Amino acid sequence: MERKRVVEKMQGFAINQALNYIEGNPEENIPKLMALVDRFTPDDWYVGQRNAMRSAIRKKNNWYQLILKIYELDAGAREAIFQNLLFNASLKGSAIQKEAEQREGCNIPWAILLDPTSACNLRCTGCWAAEYGHQLNLSLEDIDSIIRQGKALGVYMYIYTGGEPMVRRRDLIRLCEMHPDCEFLAFTNGTLIDEDFCREMLRVRNFIPAISLEGFEEANDSRRGAGIFQKVAAAMALLKAHKLPFGISTCYTSRNYADITSEEFFDYIIDSGALFAWFFHYMPVGNDAVAELLPTPEQREAVYCNIRAFRQMKPLFTMDFQNDAQYVGGCIAGGRNYLHINAKGDVELCVFIHYSNANIHDCSLLDALKSPIFMAYHDAQPFNENMLRPCPMLENPECLRKMVRSTGAVSTDYQSPESVDHLCDKTTPYAANWTPTAEKLWNSGD
Ligand code: SF4
Repeated sequence: MERKRVVEKMQGFAINQALNYIEGNPEENIPKLMALVDRFTPDDWYVGQRNAMRSAIRKKNNWYQLILKIYELDAGAREAIFQNLLFNASLKGSAIQKEAEQREGCNIPWAILLDPTSACNLRCTGCWAAEYGHQLNLSLEDIDSIIRQGKALGVYMYIYTGGEPMVRRRDLIRLCEMHPDCEFLAFTNGTLIDEDFCREMLRVRNFIPAISLEGFEEANDSRRGAGIFQKVAAAMALLKAHKLPFGISTCYTSRNYADITSEEFFDYIIDSGALFAWFFHYMPVGNDAVAELLPTPEQREAVYCNIRAFRQMKPLFTMDFQNDAQYVGGCIAGGRNYLHINAKGDVELCVFIHYSNANIHDCSLLDALKSPIFMAYHDAQPFNENMLRPCPMLENPECLRKMVRSTGAVSTDYQSPESVDHLCDKTTPYAANWTPTAEKLWNSGD
């Protein structure tokens, strides 16, 4: 059945009615709702996810515990997650995106990442945001326009990066009010989350923080500054007390990889109330970024094994962006699943890859998606059949060199523009070293 018609049918069936039905007794009613979802969804849609959900319900495993934790959240925030994230962004949105993709012949993303500001209240070691300077901002009108253009293409998920997005917290709340049908997530250092902001989150319902944490107190504060770990702990306690959804964002390096993939760290963030954790591989982006922090093949393999093991045991939704590409068919950037707009308006392929031919102040979102380097990405994805080598910068640096050179895309790092060769010279030895391990793990079929 045609996607759009199915979605209309589901909308007609009134998602709110179904959700209200579960509220009273989640344990009894979740299996009944699953049966209903199966009735309305064509057999070939989200097969893996639906099987996993059915199995979780049957076994009452860690995933089931996670679903029940969602039922401990504030009811308004929970309804926004179901309505905006699951229905608008993932069902209705993906049907519109598919149509637009066919019509326009380019990638159409599921999510748009954008930097409301380059300003930050901290000065973390090695953060590329610090190098962008502190004067750049997307205005409220700029962001509203991006969201309006995005919704016309089926995009209902907006993710703030930076800089520290919470420096613009009033505007972020205003945007939640202006677009109640979208879900907003913010990568934040967490230090500006206070009682007032929690009340605002409860009021608007559609804002979720992903708080940065680089390990336990010593490891975190050596990078982010003294006292930051305790401030993050206080922010997590506030969010938990208000029954608000949040997650953790963390970056693994050769120094902290063991800490942040330890059982103690998983248990700490789960006990603190986190529902999800996003793990990012360190990227040596920027003229001053050092290659020494790149994990060795043994260290990356340990990360791969630990996260996969805990995924089977802990009530936490985890995403290991460099090792989980098999679940999303490879690199998700270049508009395939997402794109990034920096605080100056440059439309970039990925948060880590700062080259562009398009600025949102000079062209539409759709024009940016059709700009030369975006089309080069579109035509070249996936960059490798081995999904443990997904990235055109990290594991296939010859791809990024070629695309930047052939499209004339320029560096969008205004403080210290980095040439594609300088960047890729740092990742070329890494790619060669990682390949044998990647092949071994990929061929083992785990
Ligand atoms: S370009 Fe690299 S880092 Fe960015 S999404 Fe693709 S694989 Fe990940």
